[in-house]
Amino acid sequence: MDYIEERTKIVEFGKKLIEERLSTGTGGNLSIYVPEDKVMLISPSGINYKETKLEDVVVMDLDGNVKEGIRKPSSEFAMHSIFYKNDPEVRSVVHCHSDFATAMACLNKDIPPLDYVIGDIGKTIKCTKYQIYGSPEIAEEAYETMGRDKGILPANHGSLAIGKSIEAAMGISKEIEFICKIFTYASAVGKPVILNDEQMDAVIEKFGTYGQPQKSTNHGA
Ligand code: 13P
Ligand code: ZN
Repeated sequence: MDYIEERTKIVEFGKKLIEERLSTGTGGNLSIYVPEDKVMLISPSGINYKETKLEDVVVMDLDGNVKEGIRKPSSEFAMHSIFYKNDPEVRSVVHCHSDFATAMACLNKDIPPLDYVIGDIGKTIKCTKYQIYGSPEIAEEAYETMGRDKGILPANHGSLAIGKSIEAAMGISKEIEFICKIFTYASAVGKPVILNDEQMDAVIEKFGTYGQPQKSTNHGA
């Protein structure tokens, strides 16, 4: 079997999706891109994360053809491959149905920068227009909405995060959930004070030197 390291990560991080309450049941999906071979390793469709085995992970090219595997790939394969096709920096995509992100996605509104941690994701967390799950349209909509950001809310659905590694994409998923939770709590007791553009520019610049030299980000996760 090829791609043991990537398969192991898809299985391991799939379990984390459930353990860390980022999804329930078979909701959500994950992938890792292998640029040398122009293939992605993606979670299978509708298989419980706790039961997913290395051989259940599907190897696909970016045109949606299964290259290796006995399982049907995630129904959202197009929402993953569109990022690998168009952005050479993206090596992993994580899609979640976490509680607060999904609740906010149902409002069909962007989340404003009420907490500085949002700077890891973008200046806001944008919400897409609604498109049905598992369609080329949801993939297009997600890609267009992402722009230069690292995470978005597919409308009436959940969250989507991209990263240079699965660890980074998972970290962004956790940050999206954290921000959506804080927004819900703060809005329940008052009107959150929103950071302005200048304040967010300063945060984003400061994040460039956060943590240990050369170590990457994920400030809230
Ligand atoms: P899959 O099980 O096909 O990956 O679908 C889950 C999902 O989240 C659809 O948006
Ligand atoms: Zn979904």
